[in-house]
Amino acid sequence: MDCRVLDLGSVDNRFPIGDSRLPIQYEPVIGLEIHCQLLTATKIFCGCSTTFGAPPNTQTCPVCLGLPGALPVLNRQAVEFALRAAVALGTTVNPISVFARKNYFYPDLPKGYQISQFDQPLATGGLVRAGETAVRLTRIHMEEDAGKSLHHGFPESDSQTLVDFNRAGVPLIEIVTEPDLRTAADAAACFSRLREVLVAIGVSDGNMDEGSLRCDANVSLRPAGETTFGAKAEVKNVNSFRFLQKALEFEIDRQRALLESGGRVAQETRLWNSDTGTTESMRSKEGAHDYRYFPEPDLPPLHVEPEWVERVRAALPELPEARVARVMAAHGLNHYDADVLVRLIPGAADFFEATVAAGAAAKTASNWIQGEIRRKLKEIGSEDCSAVPFGPSALAELTELVDRQVISSSAAKDVFEEMWQSRRSARSIVDAKGLAQIGDVAALEAMVDAVVAANPGPVAQYRAGKTQTFGFLVGQVMKASKGKANPARAGEILKSRIGS
Ligand code: ADP
Ligand code: ZN
Ligand code: MG
Repeated sequence: MDCRVLDLGSVDNRFPIGDSRLPIQYEPVIGLEIHCQLLTATKIFCGCSTTFGAPPNTQTCPVCLGLPGALPVLNRQAVEFALRAAVALGTTVNPISVFARKNYFYPDLPKGYQISQFDQPLATGGLVRAGETAVRLTRIHMEEDAGKSLHHGFPESDSQTLVDFNRAGVPLIEIVTEPDLRTAADAAACFSRLREVLVAIGVSDGNMDEGSLRCDANVSLRPAGETTFGAKAEVKNVNSFRFLQKALEFEIDRQRALLESGGRVAQETRLWNSDTGTTESMRSKEGAHDYRYFPEPDLPPLHVEPEWVERVRAALPELPEARVARVMAAHGLNHYDADVLVRLIPGAADFFEATVAAGAAAKTASNWIQGEIRRKLKEIGSEDCSAVPFGPSALAELTELVDRQVISSSAAKDVFEEMWQSRRSARSIVDAKGLAQIGDVAALEAMVDAVVAANPGPVAQYRAGKTQTFGFLVGQVMKASKGKANPARAGEILKSRIGS
């Protein structure tokens, strides 16, 4: 059976009468194009500031406005950042890359072309893990951003569009993946992993709301088992991981319905609309030939010596993936805990490692950070451990008081709360509030006896073999002591009183 997508003429062809085969299963094929604004202070080909949010057109000059005769000069820091990303993502940096003019007309593109890279990009190859999938990178190239159109007014007849060129000429890298992804969830994971690396190496602020990190998703379907690809749609405007996943899920369903009803997928650019949760056709897709690419005559080819690449490699910080592995190996944490500390809570891995260095047990420190610290951070509307009002050694001191059984773990929660409010040390709070546990045998014995006398029922049940009652009785002792009894010692005494 010929099942190339374009040949799926009608349902009848696929299911001749009497054919008991299952309906065709379609496999999604997804590739991502990610635009990442580099954190340089100035633009890629001029000295204008890249600061976000300045009044429109206050950060422009003849170069980024594309005035006649103005010449671009490549920003070395932009190349340095692009190299960092290229090395961190395992690509091969090309010793020579070439800037090219990508010609198209749009009001936000003052020169009538964008300086980008085409057939000789900065870097090729590389790999990023997304869930179970290893996604190959096709390339990383450098380019300039365009300006921004601002649409004002309603109804349409009264409206006007103004252009802000502050963003024109801001340095970008574009990261292109091979079409290796097969699910919307893995695509979101891939984007998330790329963002994580770009932020960790300090080249991106990762801010998707302000558009400094943007993702276009290419998606097509093909009958399962088919090796050639079907026609794809490119979905733009997905500015969050959740939207990326939703947009792809919508698009996969849309294309499947189209194919199943005998239609064809148009090769086009579509726009994600987060209000309706759908994608809408925007324009039919240009091919590369439409852009009339040619080498940029105003810029020489970019030479990157191997020594430069090696210097960049040597200076890279530890990447999240490597750090998770190291935290597991060095501190005996499981993957889940290490992952939460390194990936989920900003600053948590640093806080954790410093707490352990100050003497806390790894699992205990991890539990405090993931439990109480995270809860308090949420309360104050922060996610970042840098907002914790005390340092790692203060947390280590608290855990030590619990480990040495000076305070019970329930008292420790109160001490923690107080530390958060007052920034005083755990020890001084324990002393001031008299929270140290009652380890004194005589005092504990008196409490145990009182509890035994007050609970004849549970005691009898325990003696009759219902051992779960023991926990209840210890709980009563803890309650009687306002949480200050040492539970282990109270348990021992209780056992000696009511028989083991
Ligand atoms: P275009 O010429 O439309 O820009 P490219 O070949 O440059 O297409 O690929 C752009 C992105 O689309 C890449 O991420 C690539 O992996 C992905 N892609 C290419 N073909 C397909 C396809 N048939 N289905 C899904 N994704 C695809
Ligand atoms: Zn400028
Ligand atoms: Mg392309």
